[in-house]
Amino acid sequence: MRRLPPAASLVLALLAVPAHAAAPAAGTVLAADYPRLQALYEDMHRNPETGFQETRTAARLAREMRALGFEVTEHLGGTGVVAVYRNGPGPAVMVRTELDGLPMAEKTGLAYASKAVATVDGVRTPVAHACGHDIHMAAWVGAAQALVARKDQWSGVLVFVAQPDEEGDRGARAMLADGLFTRFPKPDYALALHVTPAAYGTIGYRAGPAMAASDTLEIVFHGRGGHGAAPQLTIDPIMVAARFVVDLQAVLGREKDPSEFGVISIGAIHGGSAGNIIPDTVSLVGTVRSYSPAVRDVLIRGVERTARASADMAGAQAPQVTVRDGLGPVVNDVALTTRLAGVLTAAFGDRVSVNPPITGSEDFSEYGKAGVRSFYFTIGGADPARVAAAAAGGAPVPGNHSPLFAPTPEPTIRTGVEAMTRLALDLLRR
Ligand SMILES: [Zn+2]
Ligand SMILES: [Zn+2]
Repeated sequence: MRRLPPAASLVLALLAVPAHAAAPAAGTVLAADYPRLQALYEDMHRNPETGFQETRTAARLAREMRALGFEVTEHLGGTGVVAVYRNGPGPAVMVRTELDGLPMAEKTGLAYASKAVATVDGVRTPVAHACGHDIHMAAWVGAAQALVARKDQWSGVLVFVAQPDEEGDRGARAMLADGLFTRFPKPDYALALHVTPAAYGTIGYRAGPAMAASDTLEIVFHGRGGHGAAPQLTIDPIMVAARFVVDLQAVLGREKDPSEFGVISIGAIHGGSAGNIIPDTVSLVGTVRSYSPAVRDVLIRGVERTARASADMAGAQAPQVTVRDGLGPVVNDVALTTRLAGVLTAAFGDRVSVNPPITGSEDFSEYGKAGVRSFYFTIGGADPARVAAAAAGGAPVPGNHSPLFAPTPEPTIRTGVEAMTRLALDLLRR
C-alpha cells in the first residue's frame, strides 16, 4: 500500500471491523507448518530491503518456492520473482506479494526489529518493513505450500509473483515490461492482500474501485522578477501561485460531481529567496486522487485551465503543467468480488466486512489495467483489544508506514494463508 490513506480513512477502516472479532476461523489449512512461516516472517522483518534492492529477500523466496516444486524465474523486472506451478488444465491464478520495505527507522522495540540500513539515491537510510510486506511474503509462501499440499483438489496453473518496489510505483510496470504476461502464463485472475491496523482475524474487501488512481502534478509559473518595492515593473509569480492554490479547490467544489470521489492537494510550493525580491518563477507539486477516469479527466483539465487562467490574470506567460507517475485505481472485478466474498464469508463468517474506499494507491492496479480480473483484499493485523480501545477514544493503533507499525504475526499470517488458499482453491476447483 503506497501513500497511506489519510488518518480519517484508517479510522473508518478500523470502525468497519466488528469489535468482537478475535481468533481466526477453525479448520485452518496450515496445521503444523506455521512455525516455519513465523521464522520466515521474522527473517524478512529483520532484513528489509528497499525498492529494486530486494536481492536477499527475492533469493530467499525463490529458494522457498523451488523447494515446493515451483518453476522459479528470478530477476524479472530487476529483483522480481515468478514461480509457476502447473497442475493440469484449467485457469491460471496469479498471487502477488510485494518484496520491498521502506526507507525509515523502525521503533517497535520488537525482538526481531530491523536494524538494516541501505543507500537510496546516494543517501544512507534505515530500512523497515513498516507496511507489512513481510506479512504478505510469509502468507504468500504459506498459501503456495497449502495449495501444493492440496494439488489433488484443483487443476490449473499457479503464478506466484513477488514484485519489487511497490512503494515506488515502479515494480509492477517493470515486471510487465520484462514479460510477466508474455513469458509466463497470462493469469485469468490476480489476487493480492494487504495487512491493515484493523483487528487480526478480520478480512475486508470492496467491489469496484477499492483504491484510488494517483497522479502527480508539477506546475511552474513564470513571471518577471524584480524589486519588491517596485511591483509595477514585475510579473509576480508568487501572487499567481497563491491565487492558483486557492482557486484550484473550486474545481472540486463546482466541477466534480459531489457524489464522486476526488482529491486535489498541493503539497509543495517553492519560490523566492528574500522579502524584497519578486522571483522569476514559482514551482508547485501536488497530487490528484480519483476512482473514475471521468473524474480524473475533470480534475486534471481543471488544474490545467485554472493554472493558465491564474497566469493570464497577471499577464504572465502560460505555465508549464506536467502530469506524471499516473497509477490507475485498484478496481476489484465486481462479478469476481461477489464470488470470492462468498468464499471468504463461508470461511470467516462475520469477520468479513466491506471496506470503505481507500484514498491510497497501489501499483497492483497495473495488472487489472493489463486486462486481468483482479481481487485485492485486506487482513487485519492488530490486537482486537487495542482496536476496540482506539475505537472508544483511546490511543490510535499505529498504522502502515508508522515507525511503530507492528502487526501481530500469529494469527495474521495464518489468516492470510487461509484466505488466499481458499480463494485460489475456489478459482481452480476441479
Ligand atoms: Zn506502504
Ligand atoms: Zn504496502
